[in-house]
Amino acid sequence: MEKNEEEWKLTLSPEQYRVLRQCGTEAPFTGKFVYHKEKGVYVCAGCGNVLFSSDTKYESGSGWPSFWEKADENSVETKIDTSHGMRRIEVICKNCGGHLGHVFDDGPNPTGLRYCINSAALDFRTEEEEE
Ligand code: FE
Repeated sequence: MEKNEEEWKLTLSPEQYRVLRQCGTEAPFTGKFVYHKEKGVYVCAGCGNVLFSSDTKYESGSGWPSFWEKADENSVETKIDTSHGMRRIEVICKNCGGHLGHVFDDGPNPTGLRYCINSAALDFRTEEEEE
């Protein structure tokens, strides 16, 4: 799926564009999904790709929506991010390449992973909508 930056600007909100296309980070405890607890799936706000299940969402205390596992093999991929003087693992949508957040190794069992994801990069669908 290829869109140029002008097309992304037209289809995303300014905050979604800043996070997804410019690797931005929303301020902690400000995103709409930090305390969201409904059953369903979180999809990419850019392309609709299914990213995470509510079954793996947990309260990390970080101020960002946190998950201990991706939805499946087509959800996300990772790459090394050395920006801001840190060495972190960036999480991107496997379908559109949008920046989602970072993954850390201080998560809970069974994976020990903490996918730390910006609310602005996500949309939510309930299981009824999911089909
Ligand atoms: Fe995407």
